[in-house]
Amino acid sequence: MRTQRQVVDYSLRKRAVLRELLAGRVGTYDVCDASPYLKNAARFHGEPTEDRCPICRSENLTHVHYIYGDELKQSAGQARTLAELPVLAMTLREFQVFVVEVCLGCSWNHLVEQFLLGRDGLAGGAENGSDQGAADASAATAPGAGPAVRRRREAQR
Ligand SMILES: [Zn+2]
Repeated sequence: MRTQRQVVDYSLRKRAVLRELLAGRVGTYDVCDASPYLKNAARFHGEPTEDRCPICRSENLTHVHYIYGDELKQSAGQARTLAELPVLAMTLREFQVFVVEVCLGCSWNHLVEQFLLGRDGLAGGAENGSDQGAADASAATAPGAGPAVRRRREAQR
């Protein structure tokens, strides 16, 4: 998706959980605990994947996309289909998406990734708004900050 940004990948954490499971330090009942709400969301709004469940290996995983953000108002925290996200991304400035993988067979579930979507991520969006302040604050150490500093000095004359 074009406006996708600030992606956080949780695959390392997932691998750590699976290692713990293999080592017997956690039980399947600890990790296969998808709530009825999550499983319903997977059934009605989920995105089927080609990936086999790492626990039962009999079902494919389903990805559920949860959306959060002030602009969403009462829709915050709801699951949306993948197809709905680009539409929302063009209407809203910024919202957070959490992707959760769920197995409808054994109830395994884990956070896959999170990211931001919304119009603020379109090209040029960073030029107006609060990002400017952050860029200036790091100007002293950032390589290539020279021209910006020079421009500011010229502007002060
Ligand atoms: Zn499973």
